[in-house]
Amino acid sequence: MPVGPGPVALQAEGGLPCVTVGILIGVLVLVLAFLMAYQRYIAGKKPVQHLCDYCGHMVSVVSDCHHAPVRERFLHGICLECKKECRLVCAKCKRPV
Ligand SMILES: [Zn+2]
Ligand SMILES: [Zn+2]
Repeated sequence: MPVGPGPVALQAEGGLPCVTVGILIGVLVLVLAFLMAYQRYIAGKKPVQHLCDYCGHMVSVVSDCHHAPVRERFLHGICLECKKECRLVCAKCKRPV
C-alpha cells in the first residue's frame, strides 16, 4: 500500500508553492524597487525640457546668473557654476520660463 509517500508528497506540494510565492514576491518587490530607482536615475540624468513662451517650443534651461546648467528643484534651480539658487531661464533667449 503506497500510503507512506502520500502525505510526504502532499506536504512537499503544499510547502513548495508557499516558498515559491514568497520568493516571487521578494523578487517582484526587488524588481519594482530597482525600476523605481532606475526611473529616478533616468529622470535625474536627462535634461528636463521646458516650454518657453518666447521661443514657443521646448527648450532646455540654464541659470539666470551664469547661464550655466542647473540642477533643477521645484520652481527654481541650483546653478552649477556658483552653487547658488537661481531662476531658470531659456537656454536660447535667456528669458525666464
Ligand atoms: Zn526661449
Ligand atoms: Zn550662478
